[in-house]
Amino acid sequence: MPELPEVEGVVRALSPRIEGKEISKVTLSETVYHSHRQGKQCIVKNMEPKEFATALIGMSIKKIKRRAKYIFFEIEKDGHPYILVNHLGMTGAWFVVQNENEIVEEKFRKHIHAIFQLNTNELLVFSDIRRFGEMRLLNAIDEHPPLLEMAPEPFDEGACTYFLGKCESKKYMNKPIKEVIMDGQVISGCGNIYATEALFKMKIHPGRKVSRISKKRKRELFKTIQNILQVSIEMGGSTISDYRNINGEAGGMQNRLKMYGKTVCPNCHTKTKSIIIGGRTSVYCPKCQH
Ligand SMILES: [Zn+2]
Repeated sequence: MPELPEVEGVVRALSPRIEGKEISKVTLSETVYHSHRQGKQCIVKNMEPKEFATALIGMSIKKIKRRAKYIFFEIEKDGHPYILVNHLGMTGAWFVVQNENEIVEEKFRKHIHAIFQLNTNELLVFSDIRRFGEMRLLNAIDEHPPLLEMAPEPFDEGACTYFLGKCESKKYMNKPIKEVIMDGQVISGCGNIYATEALFKMKIHPGRKVSRISKKRKRELFKTIQNILQVSIEMGGSTISDYRNINGEAGGMQNRLKMYGKTVCPNCHTKTKSIIIGGRTSVYCPKCQH
């Protein structure tokens, strides 16, 4: 699943290619239309696909930004601002091409669900193999309340204090640390990969209760998460299964991961263990992490 560094990579690659351009036509897949007829709302949320496609015609893309694991397309029509909020889900990927056939990998070419034709005749293409991706066309972010509950950006001043405050709240103090750092209301954009890596680096067992970790260590853990996210952004993110940047390239961070997906601890060569925390598989070293 793309986490903050992967989403940041997509935004940095997309912005110079699409900012300032206008959407002249939107084509959605038959799967999207069919799912809405079945009441399932695949990819396009809270709006009829036809209405969504029509509304976007003539809109110009002013700016594209990342917030946590979301991509915000700030768009405008007739002086009225809108936001197209996109979540990549498990396997969402964007491409900017002249022609769909330029998308090299067949699995992405076969699962195209939205094509935004631009006034430059380029195509902004959204492909999603597993279809957990989302798009919402909003007037403002308060139309989708979960966007208002997100923790501050992890690099913002105050994000660490915010995290420490949440850790002391009744809601989180008795929960396993891994579940807490993966909660988007506590830290923005830290998913399974980077939570696993940060806890290994800090030698903290993923199931340890938040209240049983000192404030000093929690502060260090937060710094470790910031650092791992930063390094991963610089490495172009992690490609575990289907993440690609807009040029169809994989990231480089997966080669630097020390615990996520590993069967043996790189420090002590003990076999790693795996437990389920907050519904997600958590890999750790039973000897190094307490
Ligand atoms: Zn170990």
